[in-house]
Formats: sequence, C-alpha cells, structure tokens
Amino acid sequence: MFKQVLLVLSVGVVLATLFSAWTSRELVANTLVGKLGSTAVPVVGVPPDNDLPTPTPRPRPRLGIVAGHWGSDSGAVCPDGLTEADVNLVIATLVKEKLVAEGFDVDLLKEFDIRLTGYRALALVSIHADSCEYLNDQATGFKVAAALSTTNPEKAERLAACLRSRYGSITGLDYHAGSITVDMTSYHAFDEINHETTAVIIETGFLNLDRQLLEQNPEIAAQGITAGILCYIYNEDVSPIETSTP
Ligand SMILES: [Zn+2]
Repeated sequence: MFKQVLLVLSVGVVLATLFSAWTSRELVANTLVGKLGSTAVPVVGVPPDNDLPTPTPRPRPRLGIVAGHWGSDSGAVCPDGLTEADVNLVIATLVKEKLVAEGFDVDLLKEFDIRLTGYRALALVSIHADSCEYLNDQATGFKVAAALSTTNPEKAERLAACLRSRYGSITGLDYHAGSITVDMTSYHAFDEINHETTAVIIETGFLNLDRQLLEQNPEIAAQGITAGILCYIYNEDVSPIETSTP
C-alpha cells in the first residue's frame, strides 16, 4: 500500500516537472516571438518570414504634408504682418489632423526638411499661398501643379485632378489656371523625394483677395485638401471637367 502511494507521488512529481519544463519553453518561445513582432521594422528587399505570426497590425499608410516656408522664411507677407508661412502652417496642421483621423501616418514637414531626401509616402502635398499684394481683380483662386519628374507622372496628375476638383468645390474658389509658375512645376522637393512618391504643390489662394478664407476659415481650406488627397487614395471619381483635359 505504502509502495503504491509512493509510486503515485513520484509519477506526479515527474509529470509536474515535465509539465513546468514544457510550459517555460513555451513561454520563452512566446516571448521571443512577441519581441520579434514588436520590434519588426519593414525592411525593403527582405521577403517576409511566413513562419512567424504577425501579432502587430500592419503599419498605416504614410502621407507627407509640407507646410510651405515653415522653418525657412516667411513667404509672402501682408502689410499688417500676416505671413504666408503662418497661414500655411495652420492649414497644414489641420490637414494632418484630419488625415490621422482617417487612419494614416502623417509627417508634417518643413520647407527644407531633411526627411524630404528620398522621402517615401503614398503621397506628398506641399501647401503654399499666393502673394498678399493687390495685383488686380483676377488675383484670386488656387493652383495645383503635379510633380512630373516622378516614376508615375500620371499618378501625380491624378492627385492634382482630385485636388482641383475637391478643393474647388469645398472652398468655392476658382481654379487659377493661368499663372502656374516655374516655382511650382520645378518645386525643389519634387527632385529630393523618392521618385516613387506621388507629389503635388497647391497654392491655396491669394493672401490678398482670398484672405478671408485662408486666415479666417483655414478649416475649410484644410477640408478641401484632405478631401482631394482621399479622392486620390480611394480612386474616387473626379468631375468631367477635370478628366476631359487633353
Ligand atoms: Zn510659398
């Protein structure tokens, strides 16, 4: 009888030891996988390891917003001291907030941000505004220019078409097609970023005649830019006027 009890006890001890050894191995393995998963950074050119589970969600798509002149100079200046750089930064910050709320990772970039070199993102939009001088009654409206130096200029044109359509309809501003300048089409950041990145520059309006919108209602301007970017990302329909350009 005593022998039997001893046997049962020893079997129990052996089983318990085996079980705890197995459990701790399992724990170590889990911890390792957990660590690998949490520190995993997407590395270009390395195929994904299919044996490992992916405990962390995929990185969110990235977008870049340049606040024109930020960190560099004032840009256009109004007689009362209002600067284009300040106007741009307010709008750009609002655009960033809206896109983050839509589920994107957004970089708010300075005019000559060091991150612009080789910058990779789904899209890059640089936000500027036009002169505060009174030129004439036609100096009102917005402009958009696409980066055609990229690998996919048709994508940049598509982003530009989306911005023209959505920014125009949401702000009510006219498209000022006549005065797209070399400053816009050969914008410095277009050459600095990775050529896979779709990029455009928008002049949101003239600080003189469109000041009411740009200074007092930056929320509306930001809404227009955000809607334009989302139109591009989700491949939304743009109005016939925009798509019928030769
Ligand atoms: Zn500017």
